[in-house]
Amino acid sequence: MRLLFFALLMPAVLVAADRPNIVFIFSDDHAVEAISAYSAGRLNHTPNIDRLANEGMIFENSFCANSICGPSRACILSGKHSHVNGVLSNERARFDGSQVTFPKLLLQAGYDTALFGKWHLGSEPTGFDAWEVLPGQGSYYNPDFLQMDGTKKRRPGYCSDIITDLSLDWLRARDDDRPFLLMCQHKAPHRNWSPPARHLKKFDEGDLPLPDTLFDDYANRVGLLKEHEMGIDKHMYWGHDMKFHGKNQFPESFSTGIANAEYRRMTVAQKRVWDAAYEPKNQAFIEKMNAGKLSEEEIVKWKYQRYIKDYLRTVQAMDDGIGRVLDHLDATGLSENTVVIYSSDQGFYLGEHGGYDKRWMFEESFKMPFLIRWPGEIEAGKKSRALIQNIDYAPTFLQMAGVDVPEAIQGESFLPVLRNKGYAPKDWRESIYYAYYGERTHNVAAHDGVRTLRHKLMRFPRTKEWQLFDLMNDPQEMRSIHDKPEAAKLLDDMKQRYTSMRKQYDVNSAAIPVSRLTEKWWRQRYQEIDRKTSKESADLLFLGDSITQGWEGPGKETWQRYYGSRNAINLGFSGDRTEHLLWRLEKGKFKGGTAPKVAVIMIGTNNTGHLQQSATETAAGVGKVVAKVQERFPQTKVLLLGVFPRAAESNDPLRLLNKAINDRIAVLAQDDQVDYLNLDESFLDDNGVVSKEMMPDLLHLSPKGYEIWAKALEPKLIDLGVQEL
Ligand code: CA
Repeated sequence: MRLLFFALLMPAVLVAADRPNIVFIFSDDHAVEAISAYSAGRLNHTPNIDRLANEGMIFENSFCANSICGPSRACILSGKHSHVNGVLSNERARFDGSQVTFPKLLLQAGYDTALFGKWHLGSEPTGFDAWEVLPGQGSYYNPDFLQMDGTKKRRPGYCSDIITDLSLDWLRARDDDRPFLLMCQHKAPHRNWSPPARHLKKFDEGDLPLPDTLFDDYANRVGLLKEHEMGIDKHMYWGHDMKFHGKNQFPESFSTGIANAEYRRMTVAQKRVWDAAYEPKNQAFIEKMNAGKLSEEEIVKWKYQRYIKDYLRTVQAMDDGIGRVLDHLDATGLSENTVVIYSSDQGFYLGEHGGYDKRWMFEESFKMPFLIRWPGEIEAGKKSRALIQNIDYAPTFLQMAGVDVPEAIQGESFLPVLRNKGYAPKDWRESIYYAYYGERTHNVAAHDGVRTLRHKLMRFPRTKEWQLFDLMNDPQEMRSIHDKPEAAKLLDDMKQRYTSMRKQYDVNSAAIPVSRLTEKWWRQRYQEIDRKTSKESADLLFLGDSITQGWEGPGKETWQRYYGSRNAINLGFSGDRTEHLLWRLEKGKFKGGTAPKVAVIMIGTNNTGHLQQSATETAAGVGKVVAKVQERFPQTKVLLLGVFPRAAESNDPLRLLNKAINDRIAVLAQDDQVDYLNLDESFLDDNGVVSKEMMPDLLHLSPKGYEIWAKALEPKLIDLGVQEL
């Protein structure tokens, strides 16, 4: 309202001067439980972050769209979900810096924009007048910083202090005419939780309270949960996490492998202070262990204390720095027209469900802290229960600055919530959408879902399982009620929400690259093939699922005869859907130099068989696969095959789905780079029945089937430039 009022009465230049500065203070992995404004100080006190709650507004229902570092950052910058901004996971991720981001739009609108600290998006920052960022995860001690000129500079000291100093130096030196955006982005409290000298002994005086679910056995929930590798009991490294020196003395209780890399970076003086703090405690523990005095449970509890105390010590150092920034804004009079935000890329398990790390859609890692102060605009001391998400930050900041929000942004500005004492306006969203795409690190299975103020629905595509939680009666999410008869109506309602939100955000899982690295056999096959393709180029690629992989099984003999001497590689993976092949094409390493002559693609029958995805969705996935092959191998001719017929009868729903997919993908053959071939007739009899002789299980080919396939392909392959046999 205020902006509008000025716009009516004042010349434009004054409106510009009235635009607020934005100081976005951001951290990595900071759970709300470790902020006293949220937890009432159960674990620790964060007086400076709490200032923002006291002088502004705190959001109790603030969530991320994808609970992992790079993806959350990409959501914030772009205002779009991961499948649109392109950063789905941390694995080989690279943010496309040419896309529209809110810092870019603010820069264009005349803001002075700067970013200091952690970036973690693979590519260089874009949209900033000034930046200095940590390479990758960065270090706590004497960290290196990437400079705008491409060089790297080591800065002595402690990371959180340095990031604060860089931010303050920039504030002091800046040109006063323009409004500014300052993004002050901490590494803390990210793993390996290395505290600064001044806080090394904080919390030494006693034990911190244990979370209720530290010994969660994962009963009454989806079995996939147990596969995770982020447990305090099994996955804490002796050196890196637990800060012991030397060889792992108790490999049955601690993981071996990574030493404390921070220690190696320290100066002699820093090491002395560090050792004085840790060594007496470490030696006391080792002595007890050797004396056989500790039960397994006591060891887990000890690890929890070591972990949580180090985590909170790094939080403390960051909070000190936030205090310095707030003091500076106060002292210079900037506070009055500056919006200050504190947030973190996602939450974290502080021993809840026995874990550390993030990824799951459970509350501890799904929640993001969000505190905001804007004197004169946001009433002090207010709490909001409105559902907000990290994709909302960009449109909110843009609207604060009076900049038009582009149509393509998926988030909603919550400026109306801020201006309404934290109450959501009548038409505000009732649910939010979440998607985690899975990666090898920590082995958390891909899942997505929706959350309302009271309920949460989760979907695990790998096992096709649903989970439903009533957060009012079960705030710790210990029991899924999806199979309870009394919850049937609720489950239906939530599934409808899920479907409509996926539609709203244009989520087509057939077209979103996702790996199966959490499945052991798949991971091994992928790694083996990736090693091969990174070293050797091929003339002929076969891309697909189990039907293609079967060239190594029932089709082996035919393969030898037809392709054995023609430098061909089989990139078929049993059970793959379009999204998995898409991931392999996107992330796979392929040797440069000679491009393959032909890539034969057949994919989609598992989209049909596993999920009965619509033909339109699957065809969009196939289209993306073709486009990805062309992007990676611009010289290569693509031979796209119609999905083979499946099921015995011609009117079987799965058969019809495959036919409908083929009707839609045939048109992808638009130029001489992409050819399309439908081999239905080779496998069907006159009545359209699949012969068991060729497809014994009515899906996969027999040796004879492979021979027919090879024969049918031959003229086309030669036509496309593969040398004759
Ligand atoms: Ca993070």
